[in-house]
This record gives sequence, C-alpha cells and structure tokens, in this order.
Amino acid sequence: MQQLAALAFIRGDVDEESLFKRAADFTRTLRIESDADLGPLFDKPPEGSDPAVLRRLRQMFEAGGWVLLESMLADIPADLRWLIESGAITIEQLAAVHRALDVTSATDIAAAIEEKTLRRVAGFGEPLETAVAAALSEIRAAVPRIPLGRAMTIAEPFVGYLRSLSGVAWVEPVGSLRRGQDMVGDIEIVASLADPDEAIDHILEFPDVSRLHRTARRLYILTERVQVGVRFPEPSNAGATLLHLTGSRAHFAALQAHALGAGFRLTASGLYTIDGDLQEAPVEDDIYRALGLPTIPSEIRNGDDEVAMASRGDLPALVARRDIRGDLHMHSTWSDGRDSIEIMVAQCRALGYEYMAITDHSPTSASSRNLSIDGVKRQAEEIDHLRERHADIAILHGCEVDILPDGRLDFPDRVLEQFDIVLVSLHERAGHGPDQLMKRYESAMRHPLVNMITHPTNRLVPHRAGYDLDYDRLFELAVETQTIVEVDGAPSHLDLDGVLARRAAAAGAQLAIDSDCHRAELLELQMRLGIVTARRGWVEPRHVVNTRPLADVRAAIARKRAGR
Ligand SMILES: [Zn+2]
Ligand SMILES: [Zn+2]
Repeated sequence: MQQLAALAFIRGDVDEESLFKRAADFTRTLRIESDADLGPLFDKPPEGSDPAVLRRLRQMFEAGGWVLLESMLADIPADLRWLIESGAITIEQLAAVHRALDVTSATDIAAAIEEKTLRRVAGFGEPLETAVAAALSEIRAAVPRIPLGRAMTIAEPFVGYLRSLSGVAWVEPVGSLRRGQDMVGDIEIVASLADPDEAIDHILEFPDVSRLHRTARRLYILTERVQVGVRFPEPSNAGATLLHLTGSRAHFAALQAHALGAGFRLTASGLYTIDGDLQEAPVEDDIYRALGLPTIPSEIRNGDDEVAMASRGDLPALVARRDIRGDLHMHSTWSDGRDSIEIMVAQCRALGYEYMAITDHSPTSASSRNLSIDGVKRQAEEIDHLRERHADIAILHGCEVDILPDGRLDFPDRVLEQFDIVLVSLHERAGHGPDQLMKRYESAMRHPLVNMITHPTNRLVPHRAGYDLDYDRLFELAVETQTIVEVDGAPSHLDLDGVLARRAAAAGAQLAIDSDCHRAELLELQMRLGIVTARRGWVEPRHVVNTRPLADVRAAIARKRAGR
C-alpha cells in the first residue's frame, strides 16, 4: 500500500496518493497484513469507513494487490520503471528522491549523481548512489532508440502547438533529437512558458495521448507507444535547462572546462560565478555569450573540437534550410513514388524551390516499379507539358540509374543523354566485397554522363550498416571526376551520415542534400532530415551544389559532359 502511494506520488497523482495513504492507515489500524485477510472486512465494514477506501481495497482483494502494483508501475516514465526493476532502488526510495530533488527521469538522476546530490537525500549515501549510477548506465544502453525521422514526426505536433501559444518565449526538443542523431533515445521537449497549466491540460487532450506523470512544470505522456517528456523550467533560467538537456555529455563537459577557464562554474542547474552567484539565462545564447563563445549549433555538440574551434572564432556557418534552392532527387508514379509528377511539382513550388529534378528508377532496379526505356520519352513529354504550365520552377528530367554488377549503367548512353541530370546508385551488393563495389562506383563516376552518387554507403537505418569502403578514396575520385556525392534525407538512408559528410567536404567533394522523396507531403521533412545530417557533418552552403542557382548546376553538368 505504501508502495502504491509512493507510485501515485511519483506520477504526480495527488488524489490517488492520498487514497492509498488512507487505505494504508485504515488497514494498519485493523491489523490487516495481506490482501487475503481483507475478505471479512467487506461483509461488515467498521462504522464510519471511507467508501472510496473500501472500494479500492475490494479491487485489490479481487484482483490481487500485485496486479495493481504492476499496472501502476507500467504507468510511470519507462526509465524510472527500469531503475526500480533493476533492483538498484526501491519504489519508496525513488519517491524520496522525487520529493527531495524533483527527479522524474533518468537524465535527472544522472545529473544528480554528477552533482553528488543523490547521496545527500535522507536514507541514501554514497554506496546507494554508486549502485544507482551503475544500474543507470546499463539502462541507458538498453533504452530502445527510434529513428530520427519518426522521432521528429512524433515531437512536431507538440512543439508546433507549444510554439503557437501566447506568452511562450521558445520551444525546443532536446537530447539526441535536437542534435539530429540517426537514432533517438528520449523524446523530450523544453518550453519557456510562464504558466504551463493550460498547455499541459491541452496536451493531455491530444488524440492518442495517455498521461504517465504530471507535476506543475513537467509532463510525461505516452503517444504512439513512445514516451514524450515536456518540461517547463522557470523562464528566468530556462536556457540553462535547454543547454544541459541538449547535451551531448561530452560537449557539456568541454563547456564546463571552458567555463572554469573563464571564471565560471557550469552545472546542470545553471552558470555560476566562482562566488556562487547564479547568472540567469532565459535563453541558451546567454550562457555561451557569458563564456565568450558564439552559440554552437546543436548538431555539432558532440564533444569533438567544436568548443575549441568556437573559442578561436573558427566555427563554420552551417548550411540551413533557407540556403536550399532546389531538390535534385525524388520519385514519381513513373517508378515507386506514390504521387504524380504534377503533385510533386506543386509541392516543390509551395516549398519555394527554384528547381527540382524528377529522378525515377531505371529498368532493373530492385524497386517495386521502374521506368522503362520506352517510358523515358513519354515521361519527357509529360514534363515538357508541366514546364509550360509552371514557368516559376525549373523541372529537370533526371533519373536514378542502377550501377549494374559489371559496372555498366542500367540505361544505354543514348537514353542517358536525354536526361538533364543522372544520379547513380548501388541498390544491390550482388555478393561483392569492398574492392568490387569500389570498382563499380569508379567506373560509373568516370562516365561523363554521370553527375551524382546517391546514398553512397547504402545503409538502412537502423537495420543495415553501410558498405565498408575506402571512403577517402571515393571522395578523391568524386573530386577528380566532378561527381557530386549525396546526403540523402530519406529517414532510412541519412546517407552520407555526419561523419562521412564532414570527410567528403574536407576532401573538396561537392555535396548535394536531397529528399529522395516518394510522396509529396514528405518533401519538406526529408529535406530537413538531410540538412540536419549535413549539419552534423559541419557542411557549409559552399559545399552544397543545390544551394547554388540553377545556371551553376547546369554549367557543372555541362562541364563534365564536355570532358573538361
Ligand atoms: Zn536509391
Ligand atoms: Zn531514390
């Protein structure tokens, strides 16, 4: 009963907590020790018994107390439940931590351990803190992660709603989601909002949302079987919460070291002078500014060299959505896309693109539907017709051609010549090892009609790792043969990833950021996924071909065709 009351407390459910506490007192006075002894009570309840308590006790008698306990355990945030199940901490201890430190998630507990405050909670101490730290790192490793695209789709309605509120200063997702990692752990959102009560009530009315936990400034919900946390820190110092929860841990540690050098102490709760005065930070920029740094983009907060680069003033201006002038890779109903070219054109116009390329799959591609040689001509006619109707956007007729196992292309040259742009890809390994795959890439790249390699590693997030190739050699060849390498924004590709994109740009290769979209409604989301991935690779507008006017893109294609 005490455990049930503690769980209700952790969930922030005041009524339930008080009910269980009353039930605990009631059974204690009657000296009832287990569920089984409850029977006689219902036949002849003592004078003045609380009917709500009796109802709940009968429920426990009929279902068994542990059933109730299990179902209440299932209702608290998942990482806390795992912590209890790991045996490192009891439900009552967790409630004590919650009471003392307002801890509701594994991130909070990790912060409390780092600050050595957990050991100071009554009944704790260092050994228990150490045990919890060990359990926590195991739990973190086992947390199911979800693909970035899905995490963005789940988070966006909540972020969008919160941003629309009056009196809101800012709203940001945090953690691996804000850093744009391929796979996201927790979905958590931080909002700077003075009075969050109404916002919380409203979120709980969203379809398919069930509540896991609620306090005045925290909300944990379950939606689409995924846990989403929303926090509303005090606006006067909300920037500190945003900075700490965005991470990464390594980035935060590098900032802490830098802060010490600048005469400050940076902790999870904010920035302090050495004398202990909190420097309030309504926005994240306040902290970077106080530390003498420009704000470091969240996608590169990986604890590599970004803090050192920022302190030298060497941070690049990363590519952003507003830099993108067109999308050079998408599919229509001529191959495995869902929408007609006309619908794709309408959406690209709505997105403000100056140009776009329709690039359907070649005949022997493994996709569900392909473009035949005969189809190329008819597709060209359809595109000509649409060009007349939509003069405000340039529609390039392209294709995504498979590189066959022998290195030849899946369309003859006389067909390839008819396209405005030719993308090539390895969709099938054909049993080849890295050397043979590289040979196939090389022969395709040396073809004067080939302009771009799509999703170069051919990985499938999260199921299949990319090819184990000599990527530095690939990027060298890309420079030599004037072939663009792609950062593909399809959620299952995100390919090149950040690490490889950074190497490609450093090698001097030209990149394209494309959606590889198969349905019009996803053109924007997939482009943004591509941009986030490129930003993780420190990619700047000058590295990206589709930040340039169409005339430049056409000129580059013409140069390669002319063999110059
Ligand atoms: Zn493809
Ligand atoms: Zn494609």
